[in-house]
Amino acid sequence: MATTILVVEDELEIRELLSFSLGRAGYDVMEADSAEMALNLINTRLPDLIIIDWMLPGISGVELAKRLRRDELTQVLPLIMLTARSEETDTLKSFDSGIDDYMTKPFSPKELIARLKAILRRSGSPDDEVLEVGGIRLDHGSHRISVNGETVRVGPTEYRLLELLMRHPDRVFERSQLLDRVWGRSTYIEERTVDVHVLRLRKILKPFGLDTAIQTVRSVGYRFTPST
Ligand code: CA
Repeated sequence: MATTILVVEDELEIRELLSFSLGRAGYDVMEADSAEMALNLINTRLPDLIIIDWMLPGISGVELAKRLRRDELTQVLPLIMLTARSEETDTLKSFDSGIDDYMTKPFSPKELIARLKAILRRSGSPDDEVLEVGGIRLDHGSHRISVNGETVRVGPTEYRLLELLMRHPDRVFERSQLLDRVWGRSTYIEERTVDVHVLRLRKILKPFGLDTAIQTVRSVGYRFTPST
């Protein structure tokens, strides 16, 4: 799965420039022309990083950043703010806005992508082609999973679920958190759907003796614990 970048910018020209440059660099791009639209998009599909313009009609870029930081779902999502003047950057730095980086317009898309890559690396977001934990290997390019060198078939939901769990070994996720991140917050799905997909994953991993890597945490949810 390609890394997804959400661009929040009302100026069409800049949005298109970013969309084009990011697309060419191999990223999936989501576009929003307002903070309101961005918030709706995030509920449908959680991006890996958000580029926010300071000056937006309605809710400002700064206010959007604050809201994202207050929300459990987007609390640690990397944010890059675009500003029109360096004074705005100074203002941003003077309070804890939770912004990971700033770019002053006009900026070079190449420079922006270099910074974005650095941030994604730091935050452990899926910028790497391959994720391998405990004998399970996810290849984001081909969207394939292999276990102990053998390719296994999984559906897209199982893939996303396993990816999320593998990115955070030993972390316990509640069913509702898994629903938000894997299925998207705007879809109404019952929590037991998570159990169905976990069962499917375990069935796939069982022949390799790895089904126990996905553990049930009683009355809470699930966690991925790779065997040593
Ligand atoms: Ca703007």
